[in-house]
Amino acid sequence: DLVTIRRALISVSDKTGLVDLGRFLAGQGVEILSTGGSAKALAAAGVPVTEVADHTGFPEIMDGRVKTLHPTIHGGLLARRDLAEHMQAMEANGIAPIDLLVVNLYPFEATIAKGADFDEAIENIDIGGPAMIRAAAKNHGFVSVVVDAADYQPLIDEMTANKGAVTLALRKKLAATAYARTGAYDAAISTWFAGQLGDAFPRRIALGGELKQVLRYGENPHQQAAFYTGGAPRLGVATATQIQGKELSFNNLNDTDAAFELVSEFDGPAVAIIKHANPCGVAEGDSIADAYARAFRCDPVSAFGGIIAVNRTLDAATAEQISAIFSEVVIAPDADEGAKAVLAAKKNLRLLLTGGMADPAVPGVTLRSLAGGYLLQSRDNGRISASDLKVVTKRQPTEAEIADLLFAFRVCKHVKSNAIIYAKDGATVGIGAGQMSRVDSSRIAARKSLDAAQAAGETEAWTKGSVVASDAFFPFADGLMAAVEAGATAIIQPGGSMRDAEVIAAADQAGLAMVFTGMRHFRH
Ligand code: 5GP
Repeated sequence: DLVTIRRALISVSDKTGLVDLGRFLAGQGVEILSTGGSAKALAAAGVPVTEVADHTGFPEIMDGRVKTLHPTIHGGLLARRDLAEHMQAMEANGIAPIDLLVVNLYPFEATIAKGADFDEAIENIDIGGPAMIRAAAKNHGFVSVVVDAADYQPLIDEMTANKGAVTLALRKKLAATAYARTGAYDAAISTWFAGQLGDAFPRRIALGGELKQVLRYGENPHQQAAFYTGGAPRLGVATATQIQGKELSFNNLNDTDAAFELVSEFDGPAVAIIKHANPCGVAEGDSIADAYARAFRCDPVSAFGGIIAVNRTLDAATAEQISAIFSEVVIAPDADEGAKAVLAAKKNLRLLLTGGMADPAVPGVTLRSLAGGYLLQSRDNGRISASDLKVVTKRQPTEAEIADLLFAFRVCKHVKSNAIIYAKDGATVGIGAGQMSRVDSSRIAARKSLDAAQAAGETEAWTKGSVVASDAFFPFADGLMAAVEAGATAIIQPGGSMRDAEVIAAADQAGLAMVFTGMRHFRH
């Protein structure tokens, strides 16, 4: 898979490192073709170079708009060296193969950054450069393409190590970088162009997104917003069809996504009710009707105006229960005719059908923006099962406790940190979310559980006899003590605190069973 570089085409706007690279290539006996300014710089340094215009027999015209856009160049970049037909076409048309392309583009981004006017920006859109880069990258089986001066040295190192040849591994890596560059280049152009038109939400955005819907407003009424689909395909809000109800808002979509991703975690029938991107009740059940009743019971006050996700076809029985109070959105993989008929009476309620459930285990990336940049990370597809658990207390958890511990930890992943989840019989019975202190999350969860129990005519909080999950380790024993006070009998947490020994001793003292997962599920 080694390809020896015999002919290179160099066309660079940024001349950094150009002469050193040219000297190296000439020293390896490589024939160098180059465009106007680049050729001049090489020749001035005494590097032998042929002008592209001399090579093609066609002059650079129109102020350089047409320099390398010629079949002699593109044929030389695109010809497959393993196909007789391509080789014959080269031969018949006097095309010489080009094994290495070194291009960096007209500085469009820098031009607009320095406040250039419209016409100057347009003139700085490179045409021939991206065309050659894309051609060479496509033909990476035979051609190396370099778009960054930072890649000159790795190229020189490989050629030095391989008697002037480049490996397929490096050619593939360079090709990936090349397409990232042309993609980002066009993204910069299209973003600038839309801005010039005052078009806040164009039909397509260069992040790879396609406009699905302009929203009434953003997180708040003074913000503008739109929903774009893009990235790796995934069943959920992006694939959903709205069957009925009012127009969706920014917050609706954000919360509905959180709800659907949460119920995607469970194999059995499951329901999540979400408010402000946090669940106020989650349950698995024999049916989604059963799961809904148990999820709702966790915090009926908060469930008002909530967003409901189910992971099975919505049926009439569940739809009847949902209809008993005001909810914003219901999202399901599908709904039967009976369910649709029941919900039709609730004119404003939005019903979204996704066409299926997403796989919680698939890898992927999530993207978030911050001031002047982006945060990219792999999605949290971590999943703990019984075999991952390490019992750290004297008491072993019972089978029933283990089932609830795993359920609670799975819910944790979808609750803003600090997250404390009490669960019993496959349903949450107390949720503490988004607090700056873990003890506060624990206390809030217990307090809400007591409120809900009392509202239902009971005297004791439902956390009594429950299990508790913590999204991250307990840094001190106080968080654990709050759980003991709430009546939890077993605990699941990542472990790994400096004070684990102290926390384990406190658990033993209280007769609790505790398991460590070794995996944290922060959510910010
Ligand atoms: P030079 O300074 O060598 O005259 O020009 C180098 C620049 O021209 C590079 O940024 C390269 O991407 C760009 N370029 C090469 N071929 C063409 C072409 O046919 N049309 C346009 N517009 N730009 C080209």
